[in-house]
Amino acid sequence: AARASLPVFDGTGTTSDGHRVPLLANVGSGKDAAAAAAAGAEGVGLLRTEFCFLGRDTEPSIEEQVAAYGDVFKAFPGRKVVIRTLDAGADKPLPFLTDATEPNPALGVRGYRTDRSSPGVLQRQLEAIAAAAGAHEADVWVMAPMISTADEAGDFAVMCAAAGLATAGVMIEVPAAAIKAQAVLAKVKFASLGTNDLTQYTMAADRQLGTLATLNDPWQPAVLQLIGMTVDGAGQAAAADGKSRSVGVCGEAAADPALAVVLTGLGVNTLSMTPRALSSVGTVLASVTLAQARELAGLALSSHTAGEARTQVRAKLPILE
Ligand code: PEP
Ligand code: MG
Repeated sequence: AARASLPVFDGTGTTSDGHRVPLLANVGSGKDAAAAAAAGAEGVGLLRTEFCFLGRDTEPSIEEQVAAYGDVFKAFPGRKVVIRTLDAGADKPLPFLTDATEPNPALGVRGYRTDRSSPGVLQRQLEAIAAAAGAHEADVWVMAPMISTADEAGDFAVMCAAAGLATAGVMIEVPAAAIKAQAVLAKVKFASLGTNDLTQYTMAADRQLGTLATLNDPWQPAVLQLIGMTVDGAGQAAAADGKSRSVGVCGEAAADPALAVVLTGLGVNTLSMTPRALSSVGTVLASVTLAQARELAGLALSSHTAGEARTQVRAKLPILE
């Protein structure tokens, strides 16, 4: 019943002077994907595959996985669908992959790191993604969560290629990967910034602790600087081999319309968000030129606090008054 009230965005992500920023959806199932398509998403920027299998204590079979991913492709025929491999651990435990007794799960064996502790699960998941994509002629992009180094990115790209998946990428959500973005992006075709974890790790503030919300704020200038460094690193990787790299944002930051403008100004190429934010983000984005977005990004970057960045940028967006 709640789905009926989802605001519908009937355009494409564009600044007032025609700079395209595709607006994609974060989803956790085929059902979510169908709702996202109805809400006007241009594709899927993040399928959280662990959400398909939460509460399971055994690894899903390849057939179950093919069916789950196929349901997402069905909602976006021929459109871009970014599938993230299992991000188990910390706030998203999966009993068949993670160790509930770890003392410090956010810094523990989570995301891509589980490929070492549970060999085979990632490879089978990639095979299932490739099978589902083949059955639906999907534009499938695959990315790994919690990548920290260029070596990890390279190993993941090799695994994707072996499974027949050509478009491999990484989440940038560990500060080390943002700092070394050029080397990381040299190994893969795209990046998606996970600003929820990037903020948590940059500020050393648990994303689940409401009492730390002032620190745990993607408007923190240090976080914005790391986002800018990632875009710059992607540009350098592209200049080195002549192949452009897409850098998206799929954390909650993309759903904040004023911050979406700043991210666009920082050079981010796509924004992926909860479907209910598509319409407001699209409307605010269409109210600025790319040059204005860049100016607002500069203003936010040079602010001393998250609060100052937010207040200053919002004050320059009359549509938010
Ligand atoms: C993020 O970290 O910003 C992200 C998109 O992934 P998740 O919230 O699932 O960790
Ligand atoms: Mg994350």
